[in-house]
Amino acid sequence: MSRTYEMLIVGAGVTGLTVAALLGQSKHSDRFDITVVDAGSRPHHDPDGDVALRVSAIAAGSAQLLDSIGAWQTICATRASPYESMRVWDESVEPDSLGALQFDAAEFAVPQLGFIVENALIQHALLRVLDKLDVTLVFDSKVDRLEADLVIGADGARSHVRDAFGIGTRDFPYGQTAFVTHLRPENPHRRTALQRFTTDGPLGMLPLIDGRVSIVWSIHDVLAERVQGASDDDLGEILSEASDYVLGRLEAAGPRGSFPLCARHATQYVMPGMALIGDAAHAIHPLAGQGANLGMQDAAKLAEVIDTALREGEHPGDRPVLRRYERARKGENATMLHFMTGLNKLFATDSAIVRELRVAGMRLFNYSGPIRDHAVKVALGMGQ
Ligand SMILES: Cc1cc2nc3c(=O)[nH]c(=O)nc-3n(C[C@H](O)[C@H](O)[C@H](O)COP(=O)(O)OP(=O)(O)OC[C@H]3O[C@@H](n4cnc5c(N)ncnc54)[C@H](O)[C@@H]3O)c2cc1C
Repeated sequence: MSRTYEMLIVGAGVTGLTVAALLGQSKHSDRFDITVVDAGSRPHHDPDGDVALRVSAIAAGSAQLLDSIGAWQTICATRASPYESMRVWDESVEPDSLGALQFDAAEFAVPQLGFIVENALIQHALLRVLDKLDVTLVFDSKVDRLEADLVIGADGARSHVRDAFGIGTRDFPYGQTAFVTHLRPENPHRRTALQRFTTDGPLGMLPLIDGRVSIVWSIHDVLAERVQGASDDDLGEILSEASDYVLGRLEAAGPRGSFPLCARHATQYVMPGMALIGDAAHAIHPLAGQGANLGMQDAAKLAEVIDTALREGEHPGDRPVLRRYERARKGENATMLHFMTGLNKLFATDSAIVRELRVAGMRLFNYSGPIRDHAVKVALGMGQ
């Protein structure tokens, strides 16, 4: 008789729950004894309450993955804000100039480029799937003994699993904090995700289904403290100016939060009996909204590798098996991490020459045909 393997998933964030659902639905699921442990309480989502502060831009590829798991239906039936266009520009040019980047769903023959979804809603939808599977969920509990045939560290950027297995990280501090809130714009957002590179830092404006925009402004820690404590009127004023009134005046219309930023990459993703996924393996700058998307791709690859290993009669915790996951994901994540770090630095430089060069670069990118198409498809998770 085939043996059963104990799988311990530490962390019930988006990535931990995605890998749990994929393994729990695998055709080999009867060979797994899966436990998910999280230090926090079970995420709760109130469909009648206000849109939560933490939202993520979910690329079309990640939406497809959630759909295949059976979680997307819950998300759509509750609230997901589609975005059909994207516009990225430097503060030295106009958003509709040739020096700005613009992408539309129509040019890729898809109804939308992606969706803005609350993190807690994704977790809630995945938990609804998991409640029907043979998976043990433990909340409000930190693991003390990491004993299992395979421990999956999905416990975020300050991963305890990573430390317990003695895996180091390469850190690239930004000296920036992501300031997050929802604002009500004077003019309609037209389902467009906007990103303006200001010398204070990139300002992302994500369209919400109720007409508001969710903003992520990655700025110097001192400025973040100032906007966090500003009156509603001052906050509206500061952000209307930072956005160059692209949506008219912006009005404070939601809670506020601040998240210190640091790019961090684990030196290795796997050891015998252990694999890191999501932010535990790689934390990246939020400026292109890729962190959760990359984490879900990690989860999908790891589940696929484990499935194949079982089919071939291999132990899912063996290093050669787990190395297949690491080889598939580490290079791609490193590319994205360094690209975001470089982009953030490039746009933070307040030199006239650099500014001219980056606007010229954007213009060139606009005319680069296949390169532009390829880059956008990768960012949208529509294939490599
Ligand atoms: C401001 C901001 C905006 C962002 N916007 C986007 C976006 O638009 N699109 C996008 O794709 N990404 C975005 N990201 C990135 C995204 O939020 C993260 O990449 C993603 O949430 C990581 O998910 P995770 O499951 O790997 O880790 P986490 O979400 O950090 O979850 C880790 C879980 O592990 C648990 N845990 C921690 N320690 C322990 C322990 N010792 N024992 C048990 N449990 C433990 C925690 O309670 C938590 O539930 C953004 C990030 C920020 C800061």
